[in-house]
Amino acid sequence: MSDCIFCKIINKEIPAEIVYEDDQVLAFKDINPVTPVHILLIPKKHISDLTAITEGDKDLIGQLHLAAVKIAEEVGIADEGFRLVNNCREFGGQVVYHLHFHLLGGKKLNARPSQ
Ligand code: 5GP
Ligand code: ZN
Repeated sequence: MSDCIFCKIINKEIPAEIVYEDDQVLAFKDINPVTPVHILLIPKKHISDLTAITEGDKDLIGQLHLAAVKIAEEVGIADEGFRLVNNCREFGGQVVYHLHFHLLGGKKLNARPSQ
């Protein structure tokens, strides 16, 4: 039993609105969306944050990005565009320490990342 909230979602110990799943990746709606489309993509393997990835994770990181594009197409935000964000550690604003990418879209976002 893990006390990581995203591992709990992977293990179906707590519910989430899952929108995509493959052998390495899970994606679900953010519980507190900041944009009309706000989906979190996570590796099924627990990695605490982006600084913890290794050479062996290259395929996984590629698969996360391919999944993000596939989901963006499925939910209809690929043509207009979207933002894929990773908050890394304290100064990056990371709250949940299981690597995740935010897929944000459905409205025009500011040209510069928010401060
Ligand atoms: P971070 O700030 O770590 O990059 O983002 C964590 C994100 O996880 C936040 O946007 C937050 O709303 C989301 N989140 C936290 N707990 C849960 C949860 O239990 N379920 C879902 N679906 N999202 C969560
Ligand atoms: Zn985890």
